Amino acid sequence: MPSPVFELTCELMRRASVTPDDAGCQALIGERLGRAGFAIEHLRYGDVDNLWATHGDGAPVLVFLGHTDVVPSGPAANWTSPPFEPVVRDDRLYGRGAADMKSGVAAMVVALEEFVRAQPQHAGTIALLVTSDEEGASIDGVRRVADEFRRRGQRIDACVVGEPSSKQRLGDLVRIGRRGSLTGRLTVRGVQGHVAYPEKANNPIHAFAPALAALVAERWDEGNDAFPPTSFQLSNLDAGTGADNVIPGELHAVFNFRFGTASTAQALRERTEAILRRHGVDLGAGAGTLDWWLSGEPFATPAGPLRAAALAAIRESCGAEPELSTGGGTSDGRFIAPLGAEVVELGVCNASIHKVDEHVALDELERLPALYGAIAARMLGGR
Ligand SMILES: [Zn+2]
Repeated sequence: MPSPVFELTCELMRRASVTPDDAGCQALIGERLGRAGFAIEHLRYGDVDNLWATHGDGAPVLVFLGHTDVVPSGPAANWTSPPFEPVVRDDRLYGRGAADMKSGVAAMVVALEEFVRAQPQHAGTIALLVTSDEEGASIDGVRRVADEFRRRGQRIDACVVGEPSSKQRLGDLVRIGRRGSLTGRLTVRGVQGHVAYPEKANNPIHAFAPALAALVAERWDEGNDAFPPTSFQLSNLDAGTGADNVIPGELHAVFNFRFGTASTAQALRERTEAILRRHGVDLGAGAGTLDWWLSGEPFATPAGPLRAAALAAIRESCGAEPELSTGGGTSDGRFIAPLGAEVVELGVCNASIHKVDEHVALDELERLPALYGAIAARMLGGR
C-alpha cells in the first residue's frame, strides 16, 4: 500500500502549479491540516496564494517553510513521461516538483499531522507556511507574509526550509545560511556617430571597458567563517546598432553580487559607484543610470537549538554527519531569518531540480517525514 507521503506527493504533483499558480495545492493541504486540528489562514496577495497553518500557542514557534509552485516543464515531449503525471521508474518518482519541492511539502504536512497526533500537548507552536511564489518574482509570497508577521508581531523562533539541500544522499548537506543577492542595471550614455568621425561622437563601450576591468579585478572582501568572498559577475552586456560603421549611443550592462556578511549591500553599491566615477562613467542627471535591486540580504544561523536538533535528527535518521553550507542560490529563508529566526534548510537531493525528468528517490521520500518529525520532537516534544 502506498505511504501517506508518497500519495500526497503524487496528488500535489498532478496539480500543474506553475509559478505563481497554486492550482489547488494549498486548498488540499489546508483541508488536511485543518482536519488534524491546525488553525488555517489563507493569505492571498495579488495572484499569489500563501497558507499559514498553526497548532498550539506561544513560544517557541517552529515553522516548516516551503512552496507549492514549480518551474515550467519546458516542452513535455522532452520528458520520458508527462511532467505532471507522477510515475515511478527504477525506485524513483518522476515529474515536475518531485524534488523541488512537492516531496518536501508533502513530507512536512505528513510530519506535522503525525506530530500533533502523537503529541497533542506539545510545547509552543508548530506551523506550516507555504507560498506559490518562490520560483517567480518572490514579491507577494513569503516576502509579503513576513511583512504581515512584522505588522502582527508574530514571532518565529526557528524555521526549517524543506528545499532540496542534499547532494548525493539525504542529509549529507544542511544549509545554515544563504548569501545575499544584489543586482545592478547600468546604462552608460554616449553620443552616437560615424566611426570615421570619433571626435564627433562619444563611445560608451570605450567609456565602460576600463571601469568593467576594475570591477572584475576588485577584491570586494575576504569572506569570513560563514561565507566565501563576495563574487561579482557581469550577466548581460549589450551595445551597438549591428552596423560596423556606427558608434553606439548607449550601453547596457547587468551585473550581480553574491555576498556574505563581510560586506553590506550599501557598501557594495557605494564602492561600485565610486569605481564607475573614478573611470569617468557618469551617473545622474542626463548621464547614465544605475538601478539596484536587492533580492535578499545574507543570513547565517549560528549554532543554536534548531541547528542542534537538525544535526541530531540527521545523525539518528541518516547515520551521517552533514556538511554545513551557506552556498547555492537564494531561498525564502532570507525573508524569515530577519524576523529573528534560526533557519536551516534540509531536504532531498537536488541534482535534478528544474531539469527535464526531475525525480526523487523513493527511499529518500519515505524517510523525509520521520526526519522532519524528529526535529519537531526535539524542539517542541516531551510535554
Ligand atoms: Zn524550491
